[in-house]
Amino acid sequence: MSGPSRPVPFTADDYRARMARAADAAAGAGLAGVLVAPGPDLVHLTGYQPVNTERLTLLVLTPGQDPVLVVPTLEAPDAAEAVGGPALTLRDWTDGKDPYAVAAPLLRDRGKYGISDNTWAMHLLGLQGALPDTSYVSLTEALPMLRAVKDARELERLAAAGAAADAVYEEILKVRFSGRAETDIAAELADLLKRFGHSQVDFTVVGSGPNGANPHHEAGDRTIEPGDMVVLDFGGLKHGYGSDTSRTVHVGEPTAEERRVHDIVRQAQEAGCAAVRPGIACQEVDRAARAVIAEAGYGERFIHRTGHGIGVTTHEPPYMIEGEELPLVPGMCFSVEPGIYLPGRFGVRIEDIVTVTEDGGRRLNATSRELAIVE
Ligand code: ZN
Ligand code: ZN
Ligand code: ZN
Repeated sequence: MSGPSRPVPFTADDYRARMARAADAAAGAGLAGVLVAPGPDLVHLTGYQPVNTERLTLLVLTPGQDPVLVVPTLEAPDAAEAVGGPALTLRDWTDGKDPYAVAAPLLRDRGKYGISDNTWAMHLLGLQGALPDTSYVSLTEALPMLRAVKDARELERLAAAGAAADAVYEEILKVRFSGRAETDIAAELADLLKRFGHSQVDFTVVGSGPNGANPHHEAGDRTIEPGDMVVLDFGGLKHGYGSDTSRTVHVGEPTAEERRVHDIVRQAQEAGCAAVRPGIACQEVDRAARAVIAEAGYGERFIHRTGHGIGVTTHEPPYMIEGEELPLVPGMCFSVEPGIYLPGRFGVRIEDIVTVTEDGGRRLNATSRELAIVE
């Protein structure tokens, strides 16, 4: 693919539009507004990325009113200079003052607010103390589509992050696995992610042999041996958007059983991706992938959900899991990553990021999903 190596930056106008959309959505959901603490929602709505601390920083979005950012006085200059800063009215408070007393007049007494999931409890308790009749609901539950549905420019970034992760996989296939520690391969994956434009590495899973049977295993000092299956799962952020892909490789010639298990996971992943289309519930993607594994007799060994959303973070709602009835909408991006885990022996996981289009799912990862043989 050709194109500029750097995406066109988001502007204050872009952030103004996102905040207006969030305020409108809040009104549509019967909320008095949206409250956002530092974290992925604030980055998405304003481009401002302060550290989340005990000092209250809070974006207040009220339908029909200009957005206001409550900010510690010492951080106000940084907030004003952030990309979306010009789109905000700042209301600062100095150390020693009660920040919740500064925020309270911006809220409607008895109003119900959507509040960002990662808001510290102490800040929510502070707001509740200042306005006891005001109520709060999780932002991702109240307005799940806000970050889940990506616009064209966000999709471009996610596609670029996916292409970079693909390039990392192609490179790692060329290195020697046998005789090296998992942490050694993990370090190479991290270097490659950076070389292909990632600014942040979130995880580099290298699960060799029995370690591959633990989906939460990252990388340890185990030496990779001939005959090992090796689960690779890596990702991070490139230009502010996430990558996350898994492939399972084998050191030398695999056994018939290893090939068979890998093939079942490959077919399950295919079925999960093929199920993606607008209007179906998230749980249908999980069911489609899970059915293939269950029919092959490994249902008990697929021990996690099929997928998770991705955007300004590498793991976020919506989740592809039984019970999630949220409908798929064009522009959503999430992983499809079934696996089979055989305790004490080996694991297999295959993961692509998929985006929902009018015509179905489109993968943002394009490397081969056949079992690759490494040295
Ligand atoms: Zn083997
Ligand atoms: Zn992953
Ligand atoms: Zn994932």
